[in-house]
Formats: sequence, structure tokens, C-alpha cells
Amino acid sequence: MVVATDNYPSSNARRIPPTNISPNTILELEKGDPVVFEKYWKKRSEECSVVIRGWELMSYLGDAKNDVCWYMLPEVERGIRRLHHVVGNAVTHDAHIVVGTGATQLFQAAVFALSPPHSSKPINVLAAAPYYSEYQDEISILRSGLYQWGGDAASYEKNEPYIEVITSPNNPDGTIRGPVVKSEAKGKLVYDLAYYWPQYTPITHQADHDLMLFTFSKCTGHAGSRFGWAVVKDIEVARKMTRYVQMSSIGVSKESQTRVAKIIGVVCDGYQNFGSMESELYFEYSKRLLRERWGKLWAVIDESKLFSVARYPMAFCNFTNESSEPSPGFIWLKCEEGIEDCESYLLGKLKIRARGGKRFGVDSKYARISLIGTDGDFNEFLKRISNA
Ligand code: PMP
Repeated sequence: MVVATDNYPSSNARRIPPTNISPNTILELEKGDPVVFEKYWKKRSEECSVVIRGWELMSYLGDAKNDVCWYMLPEVERGIRRLHHVVGNAVTHDAHIVVGTGATQLFQAAVFALSPPHSSKPINVLAAAPYYSEYQDEISILRSGLYQWGGDAASYEKNEPYIEVITSPNNPDGTIRGPVVKSEAKGKLVYDLAYYWPQYTPITHQADHDLMLFTFSKCTGHAGSRFGWAVVKDIEVARKMTRYVQMSSIGVSKESQTRVAKIIGVVCDGYQNFGSMESELYFEYSKRLLRERWGKLWAVIDESKLFSVARYPMAFCNFTNESSEPSPGFIWLKCEEGIEDCESYLLGKLKIRARGGKRFGVDSKYARISLIGTDGDFNEFLKRISNA
């Protein structure tokens, strides 16, 4: 379907640059590896470098004075609060910061902290379909006596306590979400805001929930640092999360924390007019890059009879001071024309590895494709679907 409401960049949108990828090569677009942002950090290579000497950062401790998250370096906490203040995407005053080895560890820490410790039955953990494909496995892998996977939050009918995970913008489909469970029972909420950053979606408000998760992986693209943070209102919940991280990894790598503090500092300095102003500011750059990709994608999808993607509504972004459509990190592709299994079709016919709808709790007509990979992979993807 063609909808003429496009404010994505359209000049040159129809031109797909050539790639040196052979048509027989399988395009690996199944994972959301954020290497698209590498070019930006290459340009700022010097100012973002950190040197760690052999004798430094040897202690387990990060800040003996912090009675909530003792392994966190003080400069990391300051950096996280400063970043949310600069971007305006979350309220952090009156809340505690707990850091973890990625949002992956913190999600499990959150569920542990919110589960009733003495209940006779595990609490149900729910998310509305299509939900982030890893939640189910992360909840189920250890067959915990505290919590269990309860499936699609929208069809939860039990009158039993639950934990609902709200992913907004959502992975895989980029939609803005709120809680959906309709139950008389008491529910606790975890907000996974991994993609609530200006490059993916307009920042419409400062999120102010009891428990919010963020990740360095999707904010700046440094997934390899394995670093995430939680903003938590209740001190006892924050302490229980810390306890979980302590049991699982006795804290978070100080090397990673040092790099996080450095890079967040460079991002914030740019906005607060400190340091070098030679390079484009990070969120402007990353938003422009993703919007250019979406512009190219719409040019192909609008012509396609085999594939469709749902349109996103415009919204005003308080951070960039302009209205725009979101530019999510994934393409949530629907196969049309009688193709029942989108993942198999993409792999079999086009040699594109995607993640099928079933993993996200929905129909196999859908598949998720990463939009945050290399330029070469993205252009080759466009070429293959436009020729399909
Ligand atoms: N939540 C969502 C919604 C994600 O998409 C991801 C990464 N794909 C994570 C959590 C995990 O992030 P991390 O790399 O910090 O473990």
C-alpha cells in the first residue's frame, strides 16, 4: 500500500548503491547488532579513547559510599543522570541507578527483585505480542521457582499476580506501548526503554516509571561493552537487583564502566558546548543515518507486492524540536501474496536470514530484519527485496 505521508529523506531514496556482496552470500540480518554507528565513533576516535594502566581498576568495589550499587563507579552514575537530563527521556532524580552487564542481566535482576520471595507458585512474567524474542528464554532457562513465562500479556486472563514487561519503542515492531493486562490481580511493571532514544523515536515525554531499563548497546551502539542500567524508584527493589548482579557476576567490568563514562561524557559535552565541536552531534548524526535508511526502505516497500511494513505516526520530539516519524532499529516485515512463512521465504528465495514471527509470539507471516547493520548489508538487502 502506498501512503503519501512521508517526511523521511527522499532525495536519492530510490538509488540503491552497489555492493560487493555476492548474490550467493547469506545476509545475516537476524540479530540487532548496532554496527551502523561505528562510522560516527571512528570520526571521534581520539577523544573517546581510554587508557587503563596495569595497576588500575583492580578492586571489586566501585564506590564504597554507594549503599545501593556498590560496584558502580561514581563517574558512571553521574554520566547516566547527565545523559537523561540532556536528552530529556527519563526522570532520574528521586531514583536509584543500578548497573548491569547489559540490559539482559538487569531484566533478570528486575524479575528476581519483583517476584514475591515466599509464594507457593512462580509469578507469571508477561509481555504483549509481538514481544522481544529473548524474554521468554531468559525467564524459562533456569526453571526458577520464583517466576515463569506467562506468554502474551494481551490475553492474560488469570486472576493471579503478574509482572508485565513493557517495551517501548517495541522490539520487534517499533510501536509505542503502555501496559495492556486486564486483570483484577496485582501487577508489577518493568519498562524496557532500550530504544527510547532520539535516533529511533521522537522523545515526547520524560519517562517516569518505577523501574526502567536502558542499554548502552542501543543508545550509542557499544553492544560489545555489555553495559546497561536501571532507573529504580524503590530502594529495596534496587538493592535486590544489585544482589542479583552480585550473585551472577559480582558487579560489572570496571573497564566497561570506564569506557561508558568516557563516551557518555563526549556525547553530553557536545550538547552542553564543551569539548570539540568539529563533529556532528551524536543523536543528530544517528537519527539522520537511520532516517536515510528508512527513506530508502519505504521507496522499495511502496513498490513491493510481496512485502509490507506498517506506517508509524508522526510526533513532536522535545529533544530535536521537530516533528518526525520514528526510525526503528528493526524492520517488521509482513509477507503478502500467500507467503505463509516469511522467514523461510526470505532465506530460501533471497538468502536473507531474518527472525520469524513465531519467536515473537505471533504469525509466521512476519519476520524481523535488522536495520542497524553495515551499509553493505543494508543496501544488499534493499537490492534483493526490490528484485523479488
Ligand atoms: N531489551 C531489548 C528490547 C533489546 O532489544 C535488547 C537488545 N537486543 C536488550 C534488551 C538487551 O540489551 P543488552 O545488549 O544491553 O543486553
